[in-house]
Amino acid sequence: MSHNILDFLYILSSLSFIFGIKLLSKPGTAKQGNLIAAAGMTIAILGTIFLNDTVKMSNYPWIFGALVLGSVVGTVMAKKVMMTKMPQMVSFFNGMGGACASIISIVEYNHMLHTNTGSPTKTVILLLGLIIGTISFSGSMIAYGKLEEKIKDFYLPFQQVFNVLLLGSTLAITIGLAHGYTQSHELIYAVLGISFIYGLFFVFPIGGADMPVVISLLNSFTGVATAFGGFLYDNKVMLFGGILVGSAGTLLTVVMCKAMNRSLTNVLLGNFGGGASSGSGKSISGNIKEISSSDAAALMKYSKKVVVVPGYGLAVAQAQHIAKELETVLEAEGVEVKYAIHPVAGRMPGHMNILLAESNVSYDKLLEMDVINPEFKNTDVVLVVGANDVVNPAAKTDPGSPIYGMPILEVEDAANIIVMKRSMKSGYAGIENELFYNQKTRMLFGDAKKMLAELVNEMKAS
Ligand code: NDP
Repeated sequence: MSHNILDFLYILSSLSFIFGIKLLSKPGTAKQGNLIAAAGMTIAILGTIFLNDTVKMSNYPWIFGALVLGSVVGTVMAKKVMMTKMPQMVSFFNGMGGACASIISIVEYNHMLHTNTGSPTKTVILLLGLIIGTISFSGSMIAYGKLEEKIKDFYLPFQQVFNVLLLGSTLAITIGLAHGYTQSHELIYAVLGISFIYGLFFVFPIGGADMPVVISLLNSFTGVATAFGGFLYDNKVMLFGGILVGSAGTLLTVVMCKAMNRSLTNVLLGNFGGGASSGSGKSISGNIKEISSSDAAALMKYSKKVVVVPGYGLAVAQAQHIAKELETVLEAEGVEVKYAIHPVAGRMPGHMNILLAESNVSYDKLLEMDVINPEFKNTDVVLVVGANDVVNPAAKTDPGSPIYGMPILEVEDAANIIVMKRSMKSGYAGIENELFYNQKTRMLFGDAKKMLAELVNEMKAS
């Protein structure tokens, strides 16, 4: 009886995951989607604990102790994290998921040996869960360190050969154990160690700006490792959730590669601007022109159409609310205001959408790159706020540039360009930006929040 109820609850949970993911696709419903999927997960966990009649659980204090501890730590971290540090947190949580999958494999492998219940299929499932989960764990920790700028890019001579050898040896041990050539207890720890090292060296050489693609790929690894756990326990919801995460992570990886016009192989083997330190591409000389906030305000106020390009600097300055105020003031003057959203603006997919949604900017004003690019020709003023790489023309004009081929916002088509940032420093890819030297560009130097406030005050005063 309880078995049937549990199956029903698992179906309910699985549906909540699908429905939750669907709602996550739009900023307006994302929060609701998250809550629905979380409720589904709670049902699945409680159902597994109380209604599982295959294994009767007696260690409730341990289970609930861990649940409470994990929930408290997770809630505090999620509440405290700054928007700009969100990718780090995603990476950290993903790593924890990978670690869980690998711990499950080790515990179950030892259990299988003690109870003599092994089979080749079970061994392969256990070891694949262990390998993929461990790679996801150590890789995610390196990704976390890189995003925090605590770990630098690192290459070994013959890096790829080394990686192939590591991966090859884990697979060879897996085949050996599955065929029963050996039953060694210790070999599972060898697989754990080698997979751990592989995860480190898999992520070490990858450039900082490619980190979101890698995190999304590692995310899909964790999903696959969890799905192996689902096979192992014949637990449908674990299998289903794992497959969902695995496929969603894979799709996101593909979509992000497309947004940067790069193949996954190129991301994994190449080096796209490893953070601000690795600057390359041609050096630019010329004069820049500055503009005062009063002139910039006047220029915008007497325009018909203004497009705001938000970037990482807007997030750092927490200038989303004052950006919305600028929109309100401009619209009161009869100016049409839109926002141009580049798919990798900021430090995580959807960063700008989330930020602007926070300040109640209407979603229909947020235009994707493909939609807004043809509109720049009819735009009087483009206001670039703390964005750099996503408006760098080198992506189109300089084959030597690390961002060459990445689609960008073609702001140089507008009649006037105002770039608001604090200095001439480069962006994440660490390269200079020709846009700043464009005849139509005026630099408005200063912190985004402060300068946007100045623009608003100037407009209100005039
Ligand atoms: P960039 O990192 O290229 O540029 C941001 C600019 O903001 C800097 O040049 C900086 O210049 C300026 N800035 C920083 N703080 C402030 C502030 N307080 N006020 C005003 N300006 C400020 O950002 P983009 O959004 O243009 O591009 C995103 C980059 O990050 C891309 O290379 C992308 O690939 C990468 N990336 C994207 C991820 C994603 O998923 N979206 C994840 C990880 C990386 P200054 O110091 O002079 O002020």
